[in-house]
Amino acid sequence: MLTGGCLCGACRFEYGGEVGPANYCHCSDCRRSTGGAFNVGVRLDADGFRVLRGAPRAFTKQGDSGNRLSRHFCPECGSPLFTSSPRHPRWVFVKAGALDDPAAVKPSYESWVSSKVAWARIPDGLEKFERGRVA
Ligand SMILES: [Zn+2]
Ligand SMILES: [Zn+2]
Repeated sequence: MLTGGCLCGACRFEYGGEVGPANYCHCSDCRRSTGGAFNVGVRLDADGFRVLRGAPRAFTKQGDSGNRLSRHFCPECGSPLFTSSPRHPRWVFVKAGALDDPAAVKPSYESWVSSKVAWARIPDGLEKFERGRVA
């Protein structure tokens, strides 16, 4: 059983079933909606996916692929939670970072590398801190 939720705890979900492939998506919509370099999504069967608490809001937009995608997020804290598409009603694509155990996901491919930003890859040799850097 996979579990996950948003930053503030208002939205919680669970999943029982086979965990599908996970990917990095470099499309500009994913970049903008996550605020990061890319999205990491994992494909789950809609049948086994259940929102336990809260009422995620959805924003629907046609992506670069031409598919209409609904991005679901917590209305309280704004955390991205999962994506659905009427073209693929059997699946939901959960944001890997929303999982309680992100190690359950092992991304196996990259999409939309044509719009990948240079800083999506962390260069070798950057100074590293076990915890946050102090000022
Ligand atoms: Zn929240
Ligand atoms: Zn994308």
